[in-house]
Amino acid sequence: MRIGLFGGTFDPVHIGHLLVGAAAIEEAALDKLVWIPAGRSPFKPDAEPTPGVLRLRMLRAALAGNLRSEVSTVDLERPGPSYTVDTVRWAAKNWPGSTLFWLIGEDHLAGLPQWRDATELARLLEFLVVPRPGSPVVASPHGYRCTRLKGFPLDLAASTVRERVARALPITALVPKVVEEIVNETRLYTVPKAAHPSR
Ligand code: ATP
Repeated sequence: MRIGLFGGTFDPVHIGHLLVGAAAIEEAALDKLVWIPAGRSPFKPDAEPTPGVLRLRMLRAALAGNLRSEVSTVDLERPGPSYTVDTVRWAAKNWPGSTLFWLIGEDHLAGLPQWRDATELARLLEFLVVPRPGSPVVASPHGYRCTRLKGFPLDLAASTVRERVARALPITALVPKVVEEIVNETRLYTVPKAAHPSR
């Protein structure tokens, strides 16, 4: 089995993420792509993400019917920052004998050697590098197996979606319809999270 692992905050999942997933499945001939929402991203130590249960709900809704994709709650269940190496150790145990791939945006590639236990990571899996418009193209760091995907480059970030909702601008077509419905229904991103009475 060729298994891709796609970690991120997914706050919320958007069309850019879905295009990354579709490209990875096709170009790397993955049997399965596991979407892994982070508990707390080590890259965003000061940012309080939307509660995992809500990010999970949006992700599951967005991926419903996508037969090669599944969602794992492993990072949401582990306390503390979600380090990739912990997730990959879990995946290696969970799917012994599989070939594992980690999806990484071009924006994170240069910093890869600074990730926790990066040498163990390099041994455990190969990286699928996803182009990200606006990010400079950087060389793959030495010692890591990296395959570059062509992808369907789209300049969209979850922060853009959140900012648009906060400014009462439409997010139609930037996120799947079901995600837009959940955002509207829960009034997510409309007020500062700390001040939201129901979360
Ligand atoms: P934020 O704006 O909150 O930082 P984001 O959309 O940039 O969110 P995540 O939700 O954490 O980031 O994304 C998970 C992964 O998907 C990251 O590796 C990120 O590089 C990648 N990614 C997100 N959006 C895109 C995009 N439009 N094109 C390519 N890769 C993307």
